[in-house]
Amino acid sequence: MALTTQSRPRSRRPKNEPLPAQAVPSVFSRSRLREELTRQRALLLADWNLSFTPQADRAHLADPADQASRDLEHDLFVQLRTRVLAKLKRIERALLLLRTKHYGYCRRCHKAIPDERLAVQPDARFCVPCLKWIESRALRN
Ligand SMILES: [Zn+2]
Repeated sequence: MALTTQSRPRSRRPKNEPLPAQAVPSVFSRSRLREELTRQRALLLADWNLSFTPQADRAHLADPADQASRDLEHDLFVQLRTRVLAKLKRIERALLLLRTKHYGYCRRCHKAIPDERLAVQPDARFCVPCLKWIESRALRN
């Protein structure tokens, strides 16, 4: 019986194995990733313009509960703005890196970040194991 194993290249490689040259995103996927990053940036900027309504009426309210609620709203707005700015910064950095040969490598272990991860998150700076390591350390601190 003929074997019809069309063995596709496996994305998970054994640890410490040197990565083949084609592990970095191909020219085709680079242009797709650039398009995706540009799209995400446009969306964030559009959201940003919508959410950036000047905080009119920031005067103190007589009712402390109202004031607390207003302060909480403002804090959430600031948090959201900080997150959007951080995301925009990551996207800008990824777009710059895409022009170099450094794009797609983990900043911690310097191994290639799998294409599947970059397809989901083109601005990823770390591979999943390193991200988990960083997050577990952040939780402990
Ligand atoms: Zn890594």
